[in-house]
Amino acid sequence: MKFIADLHIHSKFSRATSRDMDLEHICEWAKFKGIELLGTGDFTHPGWLKELRFKLEPKGGGIYHYRGVNFIFSAEVCSIFTKDDKVRKVHTLLYAPSLEAAEEINSRLKVHADLAGDGRPIVPVYASRMAEMVLEASPEAMIIPAHIWTPHFSLFGANSGFDSVEDCFEEQTPNIFAMETGLSSDPAMNWRLSALDKYSLISCSDAHSPSRLGREACVFDCQMDYAAIRRVLKDKDKTRFLQTLEYFPQEGKYHYDGHRACNIRLSPAEAKKHKGLCPVCGKKITVGVLHRVEDLSDRAQGYVPENAIPFKSLVPLEEILSLALKVGTGTQKVNQEYHKLISHFGSEFNVLLEAPAGELTRVTSLTVAESILNMRAGKVHILPGYDGEFGTISFDEGKNEKKEEEKPAKGKGKKQMEMF
Ligand SMILES: [Zn+2]
Ligand SMILES: [Zn+2]
Repeated sequence: MKFIADLHIHSKFSRATSRDMDLEHICEWAKFKGIELLGTGDFTHPGWLKELRFKLEPKGGGIYHYRGVNFIFSAEVCSIFTKDDKVRKVHTLLYAPSLEAAEEINSRLKVHADLAGDGRPIVPVYASRMAEMVLEASPEAMIIPAHIWTPHFSLFGANSGFDSVEDCFEEQTPNIFAMETGLSSDPAMNWRLSALDKYSLISCSDAHSPSRLGREACVFDCQMDYAAIRRVLKDKDKTRFLQTLEYFPQEGKYHYDGHRACNIRLSPAEAKKHKGLCPVCGKKITVGVLHRVEDLSDRAQGYVPENAIPFKSLVPLEEILSLALKVGTGTQKVNQEYHKLISHFGSEFNVLLEAPAGELTRVTSLTVAESILNMRAGKVHILPGYDGEFGTISFDEGKNEKKEEEKPAKGKGKKQMEMF
């Protein structure tokens, strides 16, 4: 069966998440979006696990069910450790084949970590040791490095990451078979590294509030059970892992280099020209995802590996409506139009991916319909995100430049819910 999965979310027990990240809101929004399978997020947290244990109904094969949505047990841990005289901070996604396996993993991790402290706990041991412990607890667990390019907390991150998978995961490297590309990079950027050819590249929302669910996702065509999904990812099975649904990477918060406090956004080439220093204050700039990809890549832009899984770049419907209707994303006008569209077409993914042009123009305004069609055709203009500031998107040429001048130096408050 064909289904859309979002395998990385957080609960209300993680830092900087919405209080609405409870099962009821999560399920409500998953249905709006058209997501059939979710990672539970945060299974390491005792409070969240208690809720999951109480509410989720086991369906067999590692799939659990609540209010019309299916779940597999997922979590994210933050490994902090010193290696080669450098402090490393690496986020890793964990998946468990059952509730019992998740509990077993927790019993090993809690020897080293305060699991109740945060939904995304700090595990102060080598990432390789963490992986070993998880697999000792559950050999069928999956260990997937999270948003592998973000500067501060990732495998290849400029600030506290590594230059190779082997340097990070050491003898556990053969047990890693998938990577999460993160919002600021898309598969095409990752295809420039031959070292990543063997990995399945997954995309997930990393949502910290319910409306962000599915802003990136995976489309599978296989039996919906844990073992089948694990097999598809392990074998990088193109016939069953159909595609990923992506943010335009320029929209991500760390696509370009820059210094947010000084409002300085730089391409990798510009950053090199300034020797990695902010041209305004002289401090070190934050090196973004594109720069790191260019540094570590061994192929030119545009290279497509033979076994690549295809992808589509999308803009969340709320953002499209906000731009087309010229009002904020949380406004009643956007909400009304959002629900009108999804009740007609069934889900947000149906609106974004499937709705025929003619029918769109009948149901919504010409501007909204045109924006959706432009998005499908890749006709969007984006000022790239940098140093924690999201990119700004528009469907009319020239509009972004104006926005840039008007923008205050600091990020807007409404964006603070999302860390990545
Ligand atoms: Zn993370
Ligand atoms: Zn500066």
